[in-house]
Amino acid sequence: MKEGSVVVVMAEGATDAQIEDVVGHLVAMGFDVHRSTGAARVILGAVGGNDRAEPALIELLDGVREVVRITEPYKLASRSFRPEGTVVTSGEVRIGGDEVIVMAGPCSVESESQVRAAAAAVKRAGAKVLRGGAFKPRSSPYSFQGLGEEGLRLLRWAADEQSLQVVSEVMDVSQVELLARYADILQVGARNMQNFVLLDEVGRANMPVMLKRGLSATIQEWLLAAEYILAQGNRQLILCERGIRTFETYTRNTMDVSAIPIVHKETHLPIIADPSHGTGKWDLVMPMALASVAAGADGLMIEVHPTPDTALKDGAQSLTFEHFGELMKRVIPVAEAVGRTVAGSR
Ligand code: PEP
Ligand code: MN
Repeated sequence: MKEGSVVVVMAEGATDAQIEDVVGHLVAMGFDVHRSTGAARVILGAVGGNDRAEPALIELLDGVREVVRITEPYKLASRSFRPEGTVVTSGEVRIGGDEVIVMAGPCSVESESQVRAAAAAVKRAGAKVLRGGAFKPRSSPYSFQGLGEEGLRLLRWAADEQSLQVVSEVMDVSQVELLARYADILQVGARNMQNFVLLDEVGRANMPVMLKRGLSATIQEWLLAAEYILAQGNRQLILCERGIRTFETYTRNTMDVSAIPIVHKETHLPIIADPSHGTGKWDLVMPMALASVAAGADGLMIEVHPTPDTALKDGAQSLTFEHFGELMKRVIPVAEAVGRTVAGSR
């Protein structure tokens, strides 16, 4: 068999000895084996395989229900590897479960008063995760680059004050350790989606990662980027649709809402929608947030600033506290219409 991968679905009640036997056979055929323990059964993802690999023979072993050939180029990200879906846990927050999770906060951490005010406001409205960049990927080297470690310290402090989780962007391999000290979720930004060395590094980190879709990335390229992280052993992965570059210039990006159900169909990973970067305009954030939840998003990431007019970055797409509160109220009935609830909603 030339380069290929299979998923081995074990029978319900397969014993540890049977599973070990199957793993042994797969390893002997040159596969890397990744185990996924679901509620009902164990699934083994086997990637690679040498020339003599004959996965059909695995079906003859005791305790095996079926062997499914994975034809997609991404394997560990494929829905067939974990049909029930992945729930990523950050503190007490579960992303990918029944509840829609809202992450919110300023684009960039600018000052103590700014981030503390934003944390208090988003918490009051029901957000579970505080966002804020300390290292900013800017198109121009002369633009504000973020407060660095001081920004992370302020972000953590503001989040702890409100019992919120923290998501913040890591821009380079050299920053992973620093980010891991302050954040609960590592964000890999759109511009770094194909920074394969960084993907490998966060794949080795023992904490959740949120991978944003690249500005011009196809869904397949995005899922292959996810595969890099999964292949290093990190299963706590969240995807984030943040809009893509198209010929349209009215909006900053074109929010690809259709990517949300596609990701759910193709993968077992939770997906967050970011209508702030997805549109670039504050008055489009609410309608696209509602559309994203209706399309099945597991959460939202929304930029919120005490005074968007004076924001050092992305003021035009940032919501005031009042508009964010309004969005949180409006999202509840939409979530209910698609069988979800919104975490933190009263
Ligand atoms: C951000 O979330 O702050 C950000 C820079 O987003 P993106 O990488 O999607 O542009
Ligand atoms: Mn931003």
